[in-house]
Order: sequence, then structure tokens, then C-alpha cells
Amino acid sequence: MFTGQEFLSLRKALDEIPIIDTHEHYGEAWDGPETDLYALFRDSYVTWLAHDEELKDEPGCLLRWLAPARDNAYTVSLVRALRELYGIEQRELDQQMVGGLAEKVRAAYKDKAWAISVLRRAGIQHSIIDPLPVPGYLHEEASFHLALRSHMLVHGYDRAARDHGGDNSFQFAARFGHEISSFDDYLAYVDFWVRHHKEKGAVAIKSALAYERDIDVKSVADRDAERIFDSGTKDPAEQKKFGDFVLDLLAKKAAEYGLVFQIHTGLALQATSHPWRLMWLLDNNPDTVFDLFHAGYPWTQDVLAMASERPNLIVDTCWLPIISPTAAVRFYQEYAEMAFRADTLLWGGDNWHAEETYGAALTFKDCLAKAVSEKVEGGYWTRREGLRYAEGVMWRAAGRWFGIET
Ligand SMILES: [Zn+2]
Repeated sequence: MFTGQEFLSLRKALDEIPIIDTHEHYGEAWDGPETDLYALFRDSYVTWLAHDEELKDEPGCLLRWLAPARDNAYTVSLVRALRELYGIEQRELDQQMVGGLAEKVRAAYKDKAWAISVLRRAGIQHSIIDPLPVPGYLHEEASFHLALRSHMLVHGYDRAARDHGGDNSFQFAARFGHEISSFDDYLAYVDFWVRHHKEKGAVAIKSALAYERDIDVKSVADRDAERIFDSGTKDPAEQKKFGDFVLDLLAKKAAEYGLVFQIHTGLALQATSHPWRLMWLLDNNPDTVFDLFHAGYPWTQDVLAMASERPNLIVDTCWLPIISPTAAVRFYQEYAEMAFRADTLLWGGDNWHAEETYGAALTFKDCLAKAVSEKVEGGYWTRREGLRYAEGVMWRAAGRWFGIET
């Protein structure tokens, strides 16, 4: 019988369990004094929602800016985090409270240790970071592990081309002392790029190309890639071909150097970001571990089909709980039932600042506790079995696949 009692008790238990957060974007300012209340909103997903005016650093403006976005899970999760972290009991914020909150945030960020303390309060012990805006190592923090964003490499058909983050691999290569004039130089540089970061401790290669191109990858012959390299072609089909070649190469490099290949699927360029478009890449690189992001939301059922039979696929619910807590609860339940292998499901925040991650972690634990408690009360699991599954999602799967010890 479903009483809700099990939820309360399990939810409490989850606060005692450590988390390995598989995906964040903390940049240089993440723990610095330039982070204020307005930056926390501006650099959050709330920015992506409807707003009737531009956000200015002023309490009344923030409230008006939030109004059309108030029911969205991004907003609910972030506002809840701020309320908890900064001790605000009143549910509806007014101007005076926002002013007070802005002061509290400013005071908190005077202490460099504040941001990391927020992660620890959320139970997060380790984080895999794809720092924005510049790929590569940025933070000294020992509990941060690098995901190496490698989009720029797909644009080697034109030495002036940039990825959607504005990066150019020929310029990056020069920084590392690599002069690229031939296709072989380029291949050698790709190898260096991956090996160098692996040696510095990277745990993953990352692709968020779903924001700039079709995520589909097809087989491309070496000689075709060589022909297109540095040709300056403007033909989108040729450009894609070169990118396909590089993505397949990166998948092979990931296997060679023992890195996980993290790939964004789901919400992005929606006509070309369906997770099934990755089938060729996955099936032709059986030795590469692919971490499929965002559970492919909104195509979560289709991801379940993929996860039901693929030994080289792990699934990441990073971002999912704050996109849709309802979808996340269902996904945590259904995944357990049909995944090919236990301990292949992960979670990450996918945020720019610690407060947003804190909210995402609370929402994640709510969803996971709801999913598990319903299955315990329904008789599918004992409480002990359900907790074991929850621990798998919170840290054990990430620890195993990324080689991170808690
Ligand atoms: Zn991300």
C-alpha cells in the first residue's frame, strides 16, 4: 500500500549518501566575488525561459523578470536552493527580501570556500567539470575531474572555422606548440590533445555538438577526410563528413586512453538530436564507453530501448530532474527494470554555479526517493535493495566508469 511514509524515510537516508556529480560547467568566476545574486540567475537555465524585460541588478526588476518563468522547474529548483542556503523562510519573495538575499549572496562569496561548501552541503564529494568558456583544465580543486570538450576538432575542414563556443583547434594547437600543415599533423594533434589531458587527469571526452550540428555519425574513409581537411569547403555535407570522421576518431581515442565519451542528446537542435542518431557511432565502437546525456529527454523511452541491450552504454540523467522532475521519477523506475546492466545510471547537475547545483541535487534526491519508495511500497524491492539502487545512481556507477574513488 502506498502511504508516503517510505518516501520520507528514504529521502532522509539519501542525504547521508555521497554523490559523484558527473557534469558541471563551473567557470573561472564560480567561487569568486563577482558571483552575486543576479549572476546566479543570469547564468542559470532560468535565463532560457520567457521574460518580459531584461534583467537588471535590482530587486524589483528580478521579481518582474521571474514572473513569466515562475512555474518552470528551473526556477522552482533554483529559488528553493537560495531559500534553503540563505535561510529565507517566506515562500513568496518580495522586493525587500530579494534585496536582503542579494546582500547575503554578496557576503557569502567574499569567502572563496563558500561555493565548494555549498556542494558539500548537497552531499557532492566529486564533480566532473567541463569548464566554460574555455575547454581544458581550469580549477585546482582536487575533487574536480576534467571532461575534455572537443567540439572544435570537428571543424578541421577550415582553419578559420570555430565551434559554437568560439574555439578553433588550429589556434589551440599553436598554444601547445603544434604547427598543423598536413592531415597527418592534424591526426597527431588529436592524439596529443587527448593524451595530454588524460595525463593531467581527465576522465572523459565531451561532445555537446547537438547544439550546432546533427549528432548522427556515419562511416567516412580516411582518404575522404584527408581530401576535405583544410579545404575551406562551404558544403555542409562535406563539413559533416569531416566532423563524422573526427567524432569516430575521438571515440577510438577514448577507448585507447581509457576515457568515457560523454555525448549530449535530447533538447538542443531538436530536429537532429534524437539519441537513436548515435546508433552507428555506438555500435561501431564497442570498446568505447559512451555516457549518453540527459537521458535523451524528451526521448527517454527510446534511450531505455538502447540501454536494454548495449554493454558499452551508460546513461546520464544530468540536467533531467530540473528539466522535468516528473519524467525523472519515471525514468529512475523504468531504468532499473530494463537496463542491460546494473550500476550504469548516473546523475549530474549541468550548471554554472553551486547554488543551481544545490537545487538540482535536492530535486534529484526527491525524484530518486520517490521512484525508489514507490517500488519498495509496491513490493518490487526491499528497502535495502532500493537503497542499493539509489547508491548506484548517486556514486557507485560514476565511481566505477570514471575511475573516481569516494
Ligand atoms: Zn552541459
